[in-house]
Amino acid sequence: MRDGSGKLRHFIGIFADITEHKAAGARIEFLAHHDALTGLPNRLVLRDSFQEALLHARQSQLRVALLFLDLDRFKTINDSLGHPAGDQLLEQTARRLKECVRTTDTVCREGGDEFLIVLANLRGPEEAVEVAQRILQRLSEPFEVDGRGLTTSCSIGISMFPDDGDDFDTLHKKADIAMYQSKKCGRSTYHFFTSLTPSDNLGCFEIETQLRTALERGELAVHFQPIVELESQRIVGAEALLRWHNALLGTVSPSQFIPVAEETGLIVSIGRWVLQQACQQAKAWQVHGHPVAVAVNISSVQIKRVDLVDLVRQVLRDTELPPHLLELELTESSLIENLQSNTDTVRQLVQLGVSLSIDDFGTGYSSLAYLKRFSVQKLKIDRSFVGDILTDKDDAAIVDAIIHLGRILSLHTVAEGVEDAEQAEQLRRSGCQFGQGFFFAKALPAHEFEALLDAQRACPVRRHDGTEARAARLTSAPEAG
Ligand code: C2E
Ligand code: MG
Ligand code: MG
Repeated sequence: MRDGSGKLRHFIGIFADITEHKAAGARIEFLAHHDALTGLPNRLVLRDSFQEALLHARQSQLRVALLFLDLDRFKTINDSLGHPAGDQLLEQTARRLKECVRTTDTVCREGGDEFLIVLANLRGPEEAVEVAQRILQRLSEPFEVDGRGLTTSCSIGISMFPDDGDDFDTLHKKADIAMYQSKKCGRSTYHFFTSLTPSDNLGCFEIETQLRTALERGELAVHFQPIVELESQRIVGAEALLRWHNALLGTVSPSQFIPVAEETGLIVSIGRWVLQQACQQAKAWQVHGHPVAVAVNISSVQIKRVDLVDLVRQVLRDTELPPHLLELELTESSLIENLQSNTDTVRQLVQLGVSLSIDDFGTGYSSLAYLKRFSVQKLKIDRSFVGDILTDKDDAAIVDAIIHLGRILSLHTVAEGVEDAEQAEQLRRSGCQFGQGFFFAKALPAHEFEALLDAQRACPVRRHDGTEARAARLTSAPEAG
């Protein structure tokens, strides 16, 4: 400021404190690139890191892995302990994940309880395995949430550049599919993406979207695979197996869509429908003079979320199927998961007169105490053991042991996945009563199954005398006499 004569008198300075402004700007910048809850980078950043890793991998002949990780049963924790507890768990998970990777790797939260991890500069898949194992180990250690100890686990799917694709979206889809595979295999494990069928290339999201309307669009069908008495080679039962054909996705196998149906709860309505269809069909066969028992797979989600006793009672009443012609197949893990309430459920089911078998026996806990507790009638020996009984001594020993166990406990044994005559014969000699597998027949539409029953009726019962007897009964037209 100057005075009247123009001489400088003083200066006026103006200042503003923009600390807050700066901080807010930084916060906005941070939030645009990070997840507010865990502070992890978000998907945008991850995509960039992925591109960078890809570029580098191309130049140096290295690999990049994308890990898709989902916490197991997070929803249950969230629902039972509340969202603040769920948030704490997610924060701690994020921290542990960061400890499991190198600084050159990127961990991001994809949303909910899903995390994505980019592992850069890998020499081979075994390096991704190391990280996956470290994560599984670290996340299985107890967490402290709200002052209480909590244990959880996670399922991981892995896809690799260049093996599975060379862009983010493809690898993301494949890691997602591999993650569902891990869920399906009992969780707390990792899987690499493997393409088994063309439809494997689908994201689980697409499966979910299509599956939601599959029932009402009439895309689902129940097929029946014969269960055969090994001694007489006659069909005594059928396992009901779901088939799904979708216009967009083609034929999708149950091992792909059942896990999705379970995760989304769709299995409740689909499972009810399968039970109805199977019982209705078994009733029709009974009326036509073929009293074959039908076995229906029950998912653990159904046991938890449905009043199974009520459902079975209702369906038996509606279809007028005698209860002894219905069998329910449960897995060991689903029975053991909820021991107390399942004991009651199973007791009531047995009172209804339906029988119970343990599916995929030998692959789960094989904790034998529950076999007595649950009044099980049948053990279905998993096909992973049956397939190699002729060549693998260990598998043969396991199968023998299960048959023996069955005999001591007065349980029937059914060998799954019997693929040739030698296996069938060896199983019969070992004392296994029943077999099921491609050697006898695949799962067939109801009318084709009934044709087999008709053919069988036209044949006299012959004790085991090899392949021709089987062929006459199961695959060709009835012979005279
Ligand atoms: P699972 O209950 O163990 O059914 C047996 C599976 O083995 C079926 O596969 C059948 O097609 C297959 N299989 C039978 N014989 C042979 C053989 O000789 N060799 C080989 N390699 N495989 C054989 P599928 O139909 O693909 O079903 C897979 C799984 O999906 C079933 O395993 C079951 O866990 C589930 N699933 C199928 N239908 C239903 C359903 O209606 N409800 C529920 N909850 N699960 C279902
Ligand atoms: Mg089964
Ligand atoms: Mg099975």
